[in-house]
Amino acid sequence: MHDYLIVGSGLYGAVCARLLTDAGHLVRVVERRSHIGGNVYTEEQEGIVVHSYGAHIFHCSNQEIWDFVNRFASFRPFVNRPVSISGGKLYSLPFNMFTFNQLWGVTSPDEARAIIEKERLVLDREPGNLEEQALSMVGKTIYDLLIRGYTKKQWQKDPKELPPWIIRRLPLRFTYDNNYFNDTYQGIPDGGYTKLIRGLLDGIQVETSVDFLTNRSELQAKARRVIYTGALDEFFGYDLGVLEYRGLRFEHDWFQSENVLGNAVINYGDEEVPYTRRIEHRHFSPTQSPVSIVSREYPANWRPGDIPFYPVNSPENEGLHRKYCERIAEYENYYIGGRLADYRYYDMHQVVGAAMKFVRSLAVR
Ligand SMILES: Cc1cc2nc3c(=O)[nH]c(=O)nc-3n(C[C@H](O)[C@H](O)[C@H](O)COP(=O)(O)OP(=O)(O)OC[C@H]3O[C@@H](n4cnc5c(N)ncnc54)[C@H](O)[C@@H]3O)c2cc1C
Repeated sequence: MHDYLIVGSGLYGAVCARLLTDAGHLVRVVERRSHIGGNVYTEEQEGIVVHSYGAHIFHCSNQEIWDFVNRFASFRPFVNRPVSISGGKLYSLPFNMFTFNQLWGVTSPDEARAIIEKERLVLDREPGNLEEQALSMVGKTIYDLLIRGYTKKQWQKDPKELPPWIIRRLPLRFTYDNNYFNDTYQGIPDGGYTKLIRGLLDGIQVETSVDFLTNRSELQAKARRVIYTGALDEFFGYDLGVLEYRGLRFEHDWFQSENVLGNAVINYGDEEVPYTRRIEHRHFSPTQSPVSIVSREYPANWRPGDIPFYPVNSPENEGLHRKYCERIAEYENYYIGGRLADYRYYDMHQVVGAAMKFVRSLAVR
């Protein structure tokens, strides 16, 4: 009999497993995929650390979270400076003075502000769709070149048909600073995220290729408590409805070259280019490999059974998720957490912080 059965070996499950084990509990982890780590999984190919589910950069400003993850892997400093190729030209992201210079030739913040102010859509009401929201924040040039095509591809819908909440805030930086994140710490685990997850799960019973939902009664009978990090609608057989996600598909190209893109991440703003991003993995973690692996990231419609990537947090889906939460709250000795069960887009540091908070809360129950 285990004290805790943890369903899912993603970052949330792995951090809970480590903390509970360190607190003296007997923990078992089951994972339906054939590997540990969930979406942060990385795999070494030809000496290159490949981010199998898309580019992952750890960033945070919380000392406790940073110190915690550094116990299990040494982090190599990495600053994310993505660029966008749109209309055959290259633009710096996030929108900053480099971008404004590339767009309009301006060199001072005042000149850039004046242009955006002139171009901005002024409404006497709240923006009614994503296009209006973006136009009212950044104006026509940036919207047309760097937002419209990318968004249309990502959501497979015209931005006029998308709700404004999708672009809650668009960072505009009036400094020459193209560091994508504002956080104090930023890096990538040396050897990849799988090494970090392996460190977290060290000495803990972990079984991969085991689906909790198909072996539920047998598995839960052997544990005092269950921590479930999967999707709640799936847990209940979707009986109240399906929580929507956006999917992704990756295609990997191999090159006999040590530098193909010149950067780790390149966004593609043009609608005609079917993928949204290309990632050259060797730029995340230096390598001596003579080859390079470049992944193309394609947006995909998601159906139950596919790997869910981005939750569609519309008011309808939020309401449905609340109903599932109410139902699972009635299950004794069941706890939920992580991006799937919470139906939230969480960055990795948020997942680590949430797992720490959750395990602490158990101590006071
Ligand atoms: C494309 C992309 C890029 C990202 N980039 C970044 C980034 O740069 N920086 C950053 O901080 N964050 C990034 N993130 C977010 C990051 O991926 C998440 O914060 C993190 O993976 C969430 O971990 P989790 O444990 O909550 O979920 P998951 O990684 O999804 O883990 C849940 C696990 O549970 C397993 N599971 C589910 N149901 C069952 C079941 N019935 N039985 C057994 N196992 C089950 C799943 O297989 C999975 O392994 C990105 C996300 C995406 C989609």
